[in-house]
Amino acid sequence: MNIHEYQAKALLRDFGVAVPAGQVAYTPNEAAKAAEALGGDVLVVKSQIHAGGRGAGHFAEQPDGKGGVRVVKLGANGSAQIADTAAAMLGHTLVTKQTGAAGQEVRRLYIEAGVDIARELYLALLIDRASSRVTLIASTEGGMEIEEVAEQTPEKIIQASIDPVAGLQGFHARKIAFALGLQGAQIKAATAFLTSLYQAFTALDAALLEINPLVVTGEGEIIALDAKMNFDDNALYRQPQIAALRDEDEEDPAELAATQ
Ligand code: ADP
Ligand code: MG
Repeated sequence: MNIHEYQAKALLRDFGVAVPAGQVAYTPNEAAKAAEALGGDVLVVKSQIHAGGRGAGHFAEQPDGKGGVRVVKLGANGSAQIADTAAAMLGHTLVTKQTGAAGQEVRRLYIEAGVDIARELYLALLIDRASSRVTLIASTEGGMEIEEVAEQTPEKIIQASIDPVAGLQGFHARKIAFALGLQGAQIKAATAFLTSLYQAFTALDAALLEINPLVVTGEGEIIALDAKMNFDDNALYRQPQIAALRDEDEEDPAELAATQ
């Protein structure tokens, strides 16, 4: 089962993973209220659909080149700007590399604090069926699809396999941090980030947790700017708080009928 970015970030935040402040909005009015609550000079309006590639995607009816993730610099009436941006996205069909040509209707938005990005990195945790272990995957090529990196520059992908009894250890975190070119206090921040991420992954019976991009901010903080989570359907009986996040609008009708 998949969940939305904003839901994944709320779960991760509870485990101590660093994510930007944000609020979900179903209407332009809610988006304006979120903007007022969040404050700041820059907000990002993010389409919530269960498909990636939103930033590089486009709306079917609005070939104005604007994508499914919009950075808004706020002027005097910032909340009205956010409401307008929300109105241009809600109820419209977003087409991305992952939705196919038919696209997906945007019914929810995530209004998020704008982050000053110094570097975009890639991080994922997944179950490696061959070794029956959780595997950490990292790359300096954040923002790019990992399949593309694997094809074009496989040497830029680093992996670490985690012993289920010992769990994530300091040496795993140091290996990843070093390969990502992190330095000084960032290594400590990355270790804390990875430890929380691994705890969330195992405690929630996740099958995939992808942070793309993981960013280093201008101030040197390590933050999850995007979050994709997928859960083991066979474990949902013991994860009722995850099962409750199911969004039937996003699911394949045949899969949904089979689950029911
Ligand atoms: P997707 O992967 O579906 O395109 P992302 O959440 O990765 O969506 O966003 C796409 C891009 O938009 C990011 O790589 C980043 O450059 C930018 N972005 C996303 N969220 C923020 C944010 N809170 N602040 C600044 N830039 C952002
Ligand atoms: Mg992304």
